[in-house]
Amino acid sequence: MIVIGTGAGGGTIAHPLAQSGKRILLLERGTFLTRELENWDPGPVFVDGRYISSDTWFDSDGKRFQPQVHYFVGGATKLYGAALYRLRPIDFGELWHADGVSPAWPLSYDDFEPWLRAGSCSMRPISRPATASAARRATVTRAWCTPKPTPTRSPSGPGWTCPT
Ligand SMILES: Cc1cc2nc3c(=O)[nH]c(=O)nc-3n(C[C@H](O)[C@H](O)[C@H](O)COP(=O)(O)OP(=O)(O)OC[C@H]3O[C@@H](n4cnc5c(N)ncnc54)[C@H](O)[C@@H]3O)c2cc1C
Repeated sequence: MIVIGTGAGGGTIAHPLAQSGKRILLLERGTFLTRELENWDPGPVFVDGRYISSDTWFDSDGKRFQPQVHYFVGGATKLYGAALYRLRPIDFGELWHADGVSPAWPLSYDDFEPWLRAGSCSMRPISRPATASAARRATVTRAWCTPKPTPTRSPSGPGWTCPT
């Protein structure tokens, strides 16, 4: 199987595929990101766009734009802010905004739910519940990751496995 790109998308799919026993080839157009202080500094990363490619793309009107893509092993994901938003069920339906209507997706939250669950287990996002309902959701997220039979282990620590 061939996976093109090694960012969050390609890397995430390559991980379970690698455990399937199949031969997996990852194709990546970028090189390794140089390890330097600027990698860790929001100024060069966000403001100066130090790692953005020199590509020019064209929109449907033929207007040039810089697509903000990053070509590296690990992709833009090497530099991203790691804020992982979980969409709500209503986000998949028709939504009315001040600027117009966002049409319903052809897929529902329920279609994505098993993958969101797997992602929550593998990425282990840290949630900071602001409300009681958010706290309940965080409890549910923890419950998705089933423990190995050692009762003293922390729910977020090593030794917790994800359902298959
Ligand atoms: C500074 C910064 C901060 C960000 N912060 C957040 C955040 O907090 N939360 C969030 O959700 N998102 C954030 N983003 C957006 C974030 O980059 C994406 O959500 C996520 O990294 C996208 O993953 P991806 O796998 O789709 O793309 P990428 O990580 O960009 O991976 C795409 C890969 O494909 C490779 N590629 C492209 N074309 C080819 C080709 N023809 N052949 C072979 N390989 C190819 C690229 O080199 C790259 O490695 C941020 C982005 C930037 C730049």
